[in-house]
Amino acid sequence: MAAGRPEWDQGAPVNPPVILSSTFISRGVPTPGEPSYARYDNPAHHAVEQVIGLLEGADRSGVLFASGMAAIDAALSLIPSGGRLVVPAHAYNGTTTLAQALAQDGRIRLSQVAIDKTEEVVEALKGGAGAAPAAMLWIETPTNPLMEVADGPALIEAAKAVGAIVAVDNTLATPLGQRPLDWGADLVVHSASKFLGGHSDLIMGAVCAASAEHDSALRDFRRIHGATPSGFDAFLLLRGIRTVALRLDRINASAATLARRLDSHPAVDKIHYPGLETDPGYALAKTQMRGGAGGVIAIEVRGGADAADLVAEYTKIWAPATSLGGVESMLERRQRWPGEFAAVPANLVRLSVGIEDVDELWADLDQALTRACEPK
Ligand SMILES: *Cc1c(COP(=O)(O)O)cnc(C)c1O
Repeated sequence: MAAGRPEWDQGAPVNPPVILSSTFISRGVPTPGEPSYARYDNPAHHAVEQVIGLLEGADRSGVLFASGMAAIDAALSLIPSGGRLVVPAHAYNGTTTLAQALAQDGRIRLSQVAIDKTEEVVEALKGGAGAAPAAMLWIETPTNPLMEVADGPALIEAAKAVGAIVAVDNTLATPLGQRPLDWGADLVVHSASKFLGGHSDLIMGAVCAASAEHDSALRDFRRIHGATPSGFDAFLLLRGIRTVALRLDRINASAATLARRLDSHPAVDKIHYPGLETDPGYALAKTQMRGGAGGVIAIEVRGGADAADLVAEYTKIWAPATSLGGVESMLERRQRWPGEFAAVPANLVRLSVGIEDVDELWADLDQALTRACEPK
């Protein structure tokens, strides 16, 4: 990723300088695009916003937000009042919680669907029986943490036919894995806290809009609602993104190896990973994802929730922590969170594969699984 660098003038820095100013010298009426105040438009964001836009194949820069959830909130703000949102029943937990809260307040209407069942989603988009056609389709593929794969291009075509805006949460796949704007999506949303940042040291989000109109609405929303990240975090994100392709090559390869080994491990009842031929999402993932199925694997541990908790107790390399997409491998039993969906099995452990030696990762996981499932 070579973009987002200063001009090659003699003596110029190779990297954009870190700008840590909240305000900028400004007399009279500021002209559009002139730096004035960091919440309105921060020049410290421009390099990384440009890089994210290029990675997603957008005609314009991305818009940074202070978290993935702030980015999702901004994207959902584009639903007209009373409009219907079609959202995966098992989207990222925060997305579902926010969508439900907006519906409860009467701001939007909500249809929750199995995003991997194309026919069901298409029917929900049409509305009928008194319900208006959808105003927005939210796609997450693969979903976190059940790893369901949605048919991006087919769903987008159906959404366009009813005039719905389409937003795709591309956090798990990353733009190197898939580019939803190429499928015809209107918005691509990221938690940059995950693979884009890649080092578990920042919380940030981003949205890339296909149209100038959506882009400017998102920037207005950010300015007024104020979920603007700091210049320092923008520096960290750009630094992280420089290695995203290398990290993902390693992560994809290691995840594929680990998934194959986990698939035949006696302590694993079921594995959710669309890179495995036996996975229901395999065929779709193969056609719409590049480079592999990504770095997140979910396993159901034989022996139930207690055994699953022990796995997180016994690993020495896999950090027992929430989040994903870092260079360090992490794992957690998702149902330890009180608000997690009932659809997520109690014994499901989500693994986020990092860049450590794959055989060391395997040895650590193997011993933890075996020990956790030993008869007591
Ligand atoms: C983590 C995550 C989010 C939320 O992002 P934050 O940066 O934690 O606010 C949204 N979508 C997906 C798929 C995620 O994994």
